[in-house]
Amino acid sequence: MGSPPLIFLKHNIIYLKVFIIFFLTSVPNITNLRPNQSLATLKVQRPPSLNSTNIVSSLETLSLDGYFSFENNHHAAKDFGNMYHFLPSAVLHPKSVQDISNTIRHIYEMGSASELTVAARGHGHSTQGQAQAHQGVVINMESLQKLEMQVHTGKTPYVDVSGGELWINILHETLKHGLAPKSWTDYLHLTVGGTLSNAGISGQAFQHGPQISNVYQLEVVTGKGEVVTCSEKKNTDLFYGVLGGLGQFGIITRARISLGPAPKMVKWIRVLYSEFSIFTKDQEQLISSENSFDYIEGFIIINRTGLLNNWRSSFRPKDPVQANQFSSDGRTLYCLEVVKHFNPDDTKTVNQSMENLLSKLSYIPSTLFLSEVPYVEFLDRVHVSEKKLQAKGLYEIPHPWLNFFVPKSRISDFAEEIFGNILTDTSNGPILIYPVNQSKWNNKTSLVTPDEDVFYLVAFLTSAMPSSTGTDGLAHILTQNKRILDFCATAELGIKQYLPHYNTQEEWQAHFGPRWKVFAQRKLAYDPLAILAPGQKIFRKATRTS
Ligand code: FAD
Repeated sequence: MGSPPLIFLKHNIIYLKVFIIFFLTSVPNITNLRPNQSLATLKVQRPPSLNSTNIVSSLETLSLDGYFSFENNHHAAKDFGNMYHFLPSAVLHPKSVQDISNTIRHIYEMGSASELTVAARGHGHSTQGQAQAHQGVVINMESLQKLEMQVHTGKTPYVDVSGGELWINILHETLKHGLAPKSWTDYLHLTVGGTLSNAGISGQAFQHGPQISNVYQLEVVTGKGEVVTCSEKKNTDLFYGVLGGLGQFGIITRARISLGPAPKMVKWIRVLYSEFSIFTKDQEQLISSENSFDYIEGFIIINRTGLLNNWRSSFRPKDPVQANQFSSDGRTLYCLEVVKHFNPDDTKTVNQSMENLLSKLSYIPSTLFLSEVPYVEFLDRVHVSEKKLQAKGLYEIPHPWLNFFVPKSRISDFAEEIFGNILTDTSNGPILIYPVNQSKWNNKTSLVTPDEDVFYLVAFLTSAMPSSTGTDGLAHILTQNKRILDFCATAELGIKQYLPHYNTQEEWQAHFGPRWKVFAQRKLAYDPLAILAPGQKIFRKATRTS
């Protein structure tokens, strides 16, 4: 199936005579970044043409609770990836859902006379310009945070939050009631709308599914400007479409998130393996065990001599003497990271349960490291690293990340090539790897996953040193990423990209596979002019020149 705008035109031959479709002009050349292209060539786009300026100024006529800014919008042309910079024509700072609805309806009613597209921007932590809109309108969703959070206690507790709310704020608010969301991301300074447009995955996902499997209801503004409440029972198609829908069908303005009892403390454990197969066998056993850990992740350590010494500031070795004798010697090691929740009055029970679970694992005995921290400290752990990197000026640098879902049956083939041949010297950042149970994931959402009961999340969270031409430079890392992607394609591993990014619709069709048809139909139903989330580069807005 072609893009919705094309189909639109096919059905109306008169349109064909009058309009010229500028597929190529709506997405600038900069989107086709080649691996060997240097950072220096990535420039901020020019301001819009005069014609566009007239159209943009029509936005000023809208009556709003919030406001538009037309100048100094460079922050909206940036994201965590620091590789793509598309300057918008305007940024909307909404104070109400109506502001968002009025703006989108206005743009929708202009039809294909305007090139304007709209990107919701959560916390701007995408890596490939997904929350940007070249010469379009960016909606600063965090302005909506002011909508009050409402916690509902009782048998099935939940919290109603704004789509622009940060997960860290939700944690603090729900904890006041002894409750918390069940499923997290590793980093909490991300917005509800941003993670629900993808999936929201962390070490709880094996048990509770991702964040998109833990939502009861959404309020959405569609690409026509309609405000729609949707859930499993009401406007079901839109509800599941939006969850994991990469912002294509509507802007999430409110979400009802499922909650559970929050523990006060966690036992946080790390153990090491030198054999990949033993490491994954243990991980797989843990995610299928009854009364398992509450969080199960893992990461790869490539060439990190002195690693255990670094851990000592936060973890203590179970056996300090043996731990002192352990040397990583630059080997590739695999770290299993697990957590057990507890409250101070059940320490004895939790210790027994933990010992029991650990006794069934085959890690290197001298490498058992433990820590005991408050639940909040554990959940907000990545923020600590963020602050340290910021202090060193190492946060706002390029982040050419790659994330995959790898079927369990192919994880050893994947690891053999990637860690045996491609990433042998260094990884330029953490590499996470952990399995999840598909059965806990709601498969009605827009997210695509491999067709197996168990699959792995593998995340290459790479940082590139600005202006470096060495192995830590952007060009080298992008070449390495391409090798990884090429291998996955040639070896037909059946992987799916998480936080996917592609440049052509053919690639997107291949990504969605048999689910593409439904995805494209939903686009036609909810955003027929392809106004929303242009930075994902899935559909392009059709425009006319005269
Ligand atoms: P943005 O980057 O602002 O937006 C992302 C996309 O969603 C864009 O297309 C945007 O237009 C759209 N969008 C934003 N808000 C809305 C809305 N309200 N309605 C509809 N569409 C919207 N992901 C995980 O799953 N697990 C992790 O552990 C994890 N850790 C991370 C750690 C760091 C340091 C970073 C930078 C990212 C991490 N991510 C993780 C990825 C993260 O979940 C996504 O990049 C997410 O989109 C970022 O949220 P955001 O609020 O910054 O969204």
